[in-house]
Amino acid sequence: MSNQQPEWHLPTRLVHAGERAPAPDATPTTTPIYTSATYLHADFTALDEALESDSGYVYTRHGNPTVAALEEAMTIAERGAGAAVFASGMAALYAALLAAGTPRGATAPAPRAILAARDMYGATTLMLQEFFAVRGTQIATCDMCDLNAVDAALNTVRPDVVLVEQISNPLLRVTDIRALAQRARAAGARLVVDSTIATPILQQPLTLGADLVVHSATKYLSGHGDAAGGVVVARTSLVRDTLRRQARLLGATLGPFEAYQILRGLKTLALRVRQQCRSAAEIAKWLTTHPAVASVHYPGLETHPQHTLATEAFGGLYGALVTFELREATRATLSRFFDTLRLILPATTLGDVYTLASAPAVASHRELTPEQREERGISDAMVRLSVGIEDVADILADLRQALEVG
Ligand code: PLP
Repeated sequence: MSNQQPEWHLPTRLVHAGERAPAPDATPTTTPIYTSATYLHADFTALDEALESDSGYVYTRHGNPTVAALEEAMTIAERGAGAAVFASGMAALYAALLAAGTPRGATAPAPRAILAARDMYGATTLMLQEFFAVRGTQIATCDMCDLNAVDAALNTVRPDVVLVEQISNPLLRVTDIRALAQRARAAGARLVVDSTIATPILQQPLTLGADLVVHSATKYLSGHGDAAGGVVVARTSLVRDTLRRQARLLGATLGPFEAYQILRGLKTLALRVRQQCRSAAEIAKWLTTHPAVASVHYPGLETHPQHTLATEAFGGLYGALVTFELREATRATLSRFFDTLRLILPATTLGDVYTLASAPAVASHRELTPEQREERGISDAMVRLSVGIEDVADILADLRQALEVG
């Protein structure tokens, strides 16, 4: 669409100059960041048709080429039928729970009952209480690692949605997704798996029968601690269509800049995660020998309750988080440990290239009551380490000096 009419004045010319050039005839090798909020069509009829058929690009909340590239990459990563991406992991979780709780053919999302893992990210527990329970959804929790407890809960609760993290935050307990998916399906429920900690490199839950997989893309997918985002991938086209329609109406969609950053992060996901897992395994083993450490939670340790399951499920990798408890369980010891770190960043996220340490009782699970934390086994002396891509010798040296101060 040519602009710049000869009669236009300079202010008008500058508003439109340089815009709407035809696409270059050579293809860029990386996906450009499409910032345009809206799109021009050949004529009014073409616009009308695009809106009617819901195809092509019309308005950025409905679809954006940079965002679509990330959705395609995540659909491939998780081997699903399609994806929707969101402004954060929490927005993605919310959308996944709504889509999973929307019965076939219905438009109004209304999960009647959600059965969730007891051991989950703190804000997820709060969301279930503050957004779903208050609107009449029954929320029940159980230990998803105990399949007898799952059977009993499915029988009594009769949920339409089951929600689990297959590697839980922060205790790193491992759930058998194939067994859970079979049980959920037999009970008429959809299974939603928050796979943030496992990443598609360790497991692809949709291939094991899960209905929806969720990621906080803020973590390993983007990997560099510089973008917030969330992803939901659906196993079937039916759930994908519900998810995408609801995503559009919820409006918490991802912006094109973040989509670009996360798409770039995905290119090195496998390299990063494999290296991070190798270092985490070494660090976990070393921590078990340290006198200042009371216990270590890591699925790669033979002492971990789901070690055999983790070995079968994750192809020899065990994740890049290591959770441990300091022997001296005082606030002063915990602060001393955090304040003495030199390389490891005492910051509340996970999955970055940087090694990060956080105290779940102070950060990710702060808003749970002390009773809720105790019930989940989250102690005040607990440290969650997210192992980065630095040389493992330097991470160990930092841990050694920080643990010795105590
Ligand atoms: N799921 C898990 C397992 C998380 O650890 C987090 C955040 O820490 C979230 C979901 C929420 O993600 P976001 O912070 O991107 O909203």
